Amino acid sequence: MGTDCLFCRIVAGEIPATVVRETPTTLAFRDITPKAPVHVLVIPKEHYADVATLAQGDPALAGEVLATAAAVAEDEGLLGDGFRLMFNTGAYGGQEVFHAHAHLLGGAPLGPMLARDLA
Ligand code: AMP
Ligand code: ZN
Repeated sequence: MGTDCLFCRIVAGEIPATVVRETPTTLAFRDITPKAPVHVLVIPKEHYADVATLAQGDPALAGEVLATAAAVAEDEGLLGDGFRLMFNTGAYGGQEVFHAHAHLLGGAPLGPMLARDLA
């Protein structure tokens, strides 16, 4: 995808990020506006617009993103108390950056899954 995509530019080293884990196919770095004491984004290095495109296009790579997220959760000490792993997708999902990414959130009780009930 190249220069139009913020996260591709982070992968390329053109934009700085606080990287916490890197594998040949994935990158994990701290969210610039953390919503929890631990807030790490985990991405495939290859560009996919969202998690649906990623999972359908390369299920093994989607699994590697999950494995990296689990390793970061362990490194950050989140396995005991738990954490949330979230893929915002599309307009209703509130996705702002269209390069697939998992939000790994933890370090404190995170409250309800959604800000409000739909019913
Ligand atoms: P989403 O709304 O799921 O697309 O989430 C995009 C996330 O990217 C937000 O939580 C932003 O705070 C985060 N973000 C935006 N720019 C950067 C950056 N340069 N480095 C790290 N995180 C970023
Ligand atoms: Zn990208």
